Amino acid sequence: MRLVLRAALLAIVGVATALPLGSGCQRPPKEKPNVLLISIDTLRADHVGAYGYRLDTTPAIDALARRGVRFADATVAWPKTWPSMAAMVTGKPPQTNGILLRPRRPLPPENLTLAEALRDGGYATGAVVANVNLARSFGFDQGFETYVESWADEAIRQTGSASFRNAPGLVKRFTNGRVVTDQALATLDALGSGKDRPFFLWLHYIDPHGPYVPPPAYAKLFAGEHPPYPVPLADLPPYQLQIDPATGQVSNDIGFYATQYDREIRSLDAQISRLLAALDERGLTRDTLIVFTADHGESLSENAYYLEHGDVPYQTTAAVPLFFVLEGRLPGGRVVERPVGVIDIFATILELTRTPVPPGLASTSLVRALEGDDAATPQDVFMMSGKYEPWQLSVREGPWKLVLLRAPQDREWLHAPERALYDLARDPTEQHDVLAENRVLAAALEKKLIDWLVATPRYTGGAKTDLEQLDERTQDMLRALGYLE
Ligand SMILES: [Zn+2]
Repeated sequence: MRLVLRAALLAIVGVATALPLGSGCQRPPKEKPNVLLISIDTLRADHVGAYGYRLDTTPAIDALARRGVRFADATVAWPKTWPSMAAMVTGKPPQTNGILLRPRRPLPPENLTLAEALRDGGYATGAVVANVNLARSFGFDQGFETYVESWADEAIRQTGSASFRNAPGLVKRFTNGRVVTDQALATLDALGSGKDRPFFLWLHYIDPHGPYVPPPAYAKLFAGEHPPYPVPLADLPPYQLQIDPATGQVSNDIGFYATQYDREIRSLDAQISRLLAALDERGLTRDTLIVFTADHGESLSENAYYLEHGDVPYQTTAAVPLFFVLEGRLPGGRVVERPVGVIDIFATILELTRTPVPPGLASTSLVRALEGDDAATPQDVFMMSGKYEPWQLSVREGPWKLVLLRAPQDREWLHAPERALYDLARDPTEQHDVLAENRVLAAALEKKLIDWLVATPRYTGGAKTDLEQLDERTQDMLRALGYLE
């Protein structure tokens, strides 16, 4: 009865979708909430419990997702760290913001970044990033008052010097979920914890990026959950290779690596739990918008593309978790099924923080969808990928996904046709090309893709970054993560 009355009252004032039941006795949410943007490196959606994974990899992340609105079908702009995150923090696609896979260049200063927009809107801005591809030398610090390069800060703390040489086995010696969380809390306090000014804090965690080395406490978790799946050792990326303690040999078993991957996710989840508890202790839970996503997924064995991301257009690396939590403002437990892009985070955060939205964005605010209007995600979702030019292109519309492999090398190594259509509702792992049965639909989607490609403004200025000219430590970090191979 009380619920009925309350729903009627809320309907009268027109905010029924914005206020969860039970929050009526509290003060209204702040006009400019704090913003905590969490991006996880290499977290594929289907290894997250909230996205239906069979193993308990993410209890804390799942609980957080239930407090907000979860997008069941979120796609990155490019399944590689720097072009993906550049699109997220500029609200513009790779061709426009200047950050494609090649040429490497720092994020051009002509871009208005999310941090700059929020800083100009009165926010204290800070970031902790754990992937060297987001280093200051690549321009991702634009707009941040405090920018922590996690690996370097931790090396200084542990050894008194940032001049360490990295190697594959050492990647997570200096940065991992625990370190990033420690640095995040220190940064949060340095920014004033939202007391005088609201804060914008961006955290980019490196786990579960390979090589998958979970902390020792997780070494036995999920044992036996992934059956042995041996592949030729030469097919695995060198930076991923590990000795399997069970055999004492360098492992060529995808089952072993998939288990290690899941262990890393679970260890990350424990750090997210710690982060959220610390927010709670500081009394920040209610006034903080939490946005959770990933920069791309990971292909474990699919398409015979092992333990990597970036070179294929498939859902293994394209699909990531995405959810928004803001108690007192956004409903809890809501799920939006329609496809959206991680690029939409930009406009969504600006609207939720009442920050002016600059012109020329390719980012659509998801606020209407967050509030309950499922149809309010109007745009098609485009993605680029690949290592050969011309790049792979794909477009999503509802359950449909059209993939164009424009480079002959891609068609050769993927044993796939130039164009393929998938019905993800029936075929989520993209095993069955249904283009022949749906030629009209496929042609319409291809026209959308080509129109998008032609209409998207191209970035033409800016200097290139010669990776060989970067300092040796940055080169070592890149190499250890598999980027200079
Ligand atoms: Zn990444």
